[in-house]
Amino acid sequence: YTQAKTLVFSRFGEPSDVLRLHTHSISPTLPDGAVLVRALAAPVNPADVNTIQGTYGARPAFSPLLGTPEPSAVPGNEGCFEVVAVGPRVGGGLRKGDWVIPATTGFGTFRTHALVENADRALLRVGGDKGTAGLTAKQVATVSVNPCSAYRMLKDYVDLVDLSVKSFARGDGATGGAWFLQNGANSGVGRAAIQLGRLWGLRSINVVRERATAEETEALKSELRELGATVVVTEAEFLDRSFSARLKEEWTRGDREPVMLGLNCVGGKSASAMIKALSPKGCMVTYGGMSRQSFPFPTGPQIFKRLRFEGFWLSEWAKENPAEKRNTINEILELMREGKFKESPFKEVEWNWDTEEKVLKDAIQGTLEGFKSGKGLFVF
Ligand code: NDP
Repeated sequence: YTQAKTLVFSRFGEPSDVLRLHTHSISPTLPDGAVLVRALAAPVNPADVNTIQGTYGARPAFSPLLGTPEPSAVPGNEGCFEVVAVGPRVGGGLRKGDWVIPATTGFGTFRTHALVENADRALLRVGGDKGTAGLTAKQVATVSVNPCSAYRMLKDYVDLVDLSVKSFARGDGATGGAWFLQNGANSGVGRAAIQLGRLWGLRSINVVRERATAEETEALKSELRELGATVVVTEAEFLDRSFSARLKEEWTRGDREPVMLGLNCVGGKSASAMIKALSPKGCMVTYGGMSRQSFPFPTGPQIFKRLRFEGFWLSEWAKENPAEKRNTINEILELMREGKFKESPFKEVEWNWDTEEKVLKDAIQGTLEGFKSGKGLFVF
């Protein structure tokens, strides 16, 4: 029998109130089509906390399967696992020692081990023929949510690469690739967008919140520029009346190099400023609401600038495009393997047999707080 520990919750609420660490054992006799996996690493994303709070777009089902006193759900959507045992009739060529990631959201990754039924559909084997050489568990554990979202949002709404090509072809003196604009630029998604944008020859205007001191703000700006950001401004600079003029004069040659895509992580005033900054016929994609503030869709810009407003939700996109999701993940893993894509900063939390429930809950509870140096990552 394998002894396993799993975080569970049986009702919605604050993580520190509702999460429990549950110990159980997994039988060595695996059902048909099932594998036993052991966790290597799992990040704590904002959506995981929203799911525990019951405020997320998808609600988990509470089940009696783990033998908890009340039916329960396991939090966590992303992680890297190693296959430790393979049951009879497992498809997909899964073997002991393979690294795998959940194929869909709602897997429940905050646990030391999992018995995974229908393993060939529930898991993606990492790395194809090349295996895991050159990859770390941390990279694999964090590829499928943030980098994947950034990739799809940069590709699926405005063809920025085509725009760059056309702009250069016109020979009107374009000074670089097409622009996109994003707030929450130091988030996991933001950092991924910066790097992918640079690899695809795009330019980015990135908005971050001011830090406690001018030195810290400058350090964050230069960190993002090193990742490939073209321009980094603070939220205060972005919200200032002077921003439109700066955009025209300093970066877009009087709007001749338009800003056609805005990625909105924050909402509120920052989103309103984004609507002002976007060029006519531009598209704003909202994917997060970190400020917890909504924002108006003002009539004037909708009509006179003919703006387009879209919402992005990775889980639904992935359900509709499972093959594309696999391809996107594999492409980003290749970039990581080649050293062209850096994972975000993380605060590692070791999870071993003796780790106390409180340590694990604390790592989750702080996730929605701002000004963090990195998001939580359970390392097993
Ligand atoms: P991270 O934890 O890496 O980053 C959080 C970001 O939010 C930081 O840039 C932080 O800035 C900012 N932030 C925190 N609090 C506030 C606030 N009160 N006002 C303004 N900004 C704030 O997050 P992720 O990259 O994992 O996720 C970012 C967002 O994207 C989340 O809302 C998440 O749910 C969403 N997301 C959505 C997906 C989808 O499919 N729709 C997929 C992936 C992510 P600072 O450092 O200044 O605090």
